[in-house]
Amino acid sequence: MTRYNEIWHEIKQKLEENFDDVVFEEIFEPVDDVFKVSNSYIYLIAPNDFIKKRIEMLYLNKLNRYLEQYFEKLHKFKIITKEKATEELANQKEFSVNEPENNQDRYIKGNINTSYTFDSFVVGNSNRLAYTSAIKVADQPGIVANPLYIFGDVGLGKTHLMQCIGNYILEGNINAKVLYVKTDQFVEEYVKLAHKNKFEEFNRKYRDVDVLLVDDIQFLAKKEKSQLEFFKLFEILHGEGKQIVITSDRSASDLKDVMSRLTSRFEWGVTVDINRPDLDHRIKILEKKLLAETSDSDLIPTSVIEYIASVFDNNVRELEGALKRVLFYCTAFNLNFTVKNAEQALKNLIKPRINNNHLRENQVKNIMSLVSDYYRISTSDLISKKRKAKYVFPRQIAMYLIKTLYGLPYQKIGSFFNDRDHSTVMHSVQKITNEIEMDYNVKKDVEKLTTKCGQN
Ligand code: ADP
Ligand code: MG
Repeated sequence: MTRYNEIWHEIKQKLEENFDDVVFEEIFEPVDDVFKVSNSYIYLIAPNDFIKKRIEMLYLNKLNRYLEQYFEKLHKFKIITKEKATEELANQKEFSVNEPENNQDRYIKGNINTSYTFDSFVVGNSNRLAYTSAIKVADQPGIVANPLYIFGDVGLGKTHLMQCIGNYILEGNINAKVLYVKTDQFVEEYVKLAHKNKFEEFNRKYRDVDVLLVDDIQFLAKKEKSQLEFFKLFEILHGEGKQIVITSDRSASDLKDVMSRLTSRFEWGVTVDINRPDLDHRIKILEKKLLAETSDSDLIPTSVIEYIASVFDNNVRELEGALKRVLFYCTAFNLNFTVKNAEQALKNLIKPRINNNHLRENQVKNIMSLVSDYYRISTSDLISKKRKAKYVFPRQIAMYLIKTLYGLPYQKIGSFFNDRDHSTVMHSVQKITNEIEMDYNVKKDVEKLTTKCGQN
């Protein structure tokens, strides 16, 4: 704690040097020692709500920037009022100002990324439902949606959103026991401890929690013993009303090789999916990421942002990587941020995409998402084995488009739709070909979709 206090007082000194006396005396002077440190937030007490708001609105970014010199890992200040701090102390009898990181050590450190907050998560059509559900869960853990099951392709923000929930809950209550675990880590620990007969240790870690965040549950596939253990854990926590959040790269019903007893439990709660962001959404994400990287949001012109957003349409992680690369490249070589320079910076990333299957896969995914949007079904239903007409017809349209636009072999197309065989795809393409001739509406639909595919 003393270290944090020292840092705060050093920063305070700098503020005194940099700010007008009147401002300093009114705003910063009354802020004394650090109240507590939790979840990488350093809590300072403002004497009243007015000063708290002034700091938050006008000075917090600056204060946080000072912190960067002191810590490798991101730390931020959080301002609370004296009233709130007193209340918190009164409510937590065992709370010790000298040991603020006890809980953090056990549950948080190196575990939850504190920059994954609802604030930094950009909302658009592709993730709105997931986002609102996550907020509800964070507000009322264990009550509104248990478990919350979030699924979607890689790099679309599942981990980010899941950790928002954890960060939000911890912000409200530093003593909440939030445990984030990657599924492969869960399996590994189980195997290791089961081997040594140390179940107690294992149970202590996993059962003594308020909120359990389990990332990438698909990795439980084929791990029967771990599945059983997870099932037990799930039953216990769920029974106690503890919030469970799960992410996966596929819907619960598509989790092959995970016992159905478990996957049917996932459907007790709320299931939401995250899809690929559209162009506008990608631009917004880039703008947000840029703001996090630099204080000057006008550093990169809109044309360059739009260029990056139009090329990297597959997932947010790639999008973010592309932005960082452009930033790095232009800064390192002292170049202006122009589309041409951005192209240059990204050429190694873009070229392989055009040359290999990757782009093809992107194009296929693009068609899938356009078709599912068009028919208002989810992409996972589109590629699922469900046989309701409302899924079958769009699925056949998607296969038809992939065949006619990209000429992939039938078998290859089948592999994108849950490993359907060559003859199913062929039949679908044939059927749509006939329908286009017979049915004016189908013809129009296909034309519209073809244009859309060309635009993307
Ligand atoms: P997933 O777990 O689905 O593979 P991640 O949560 O790891 O994806 O997200 C990959 C990267 O993209 C992260 O850096 C994350 O911050 C970013 N990201 C994804 N979606 C969003 C979003 N909606 N707003 C801001 N950043 C996002
Ligand atoms: Mg993830």
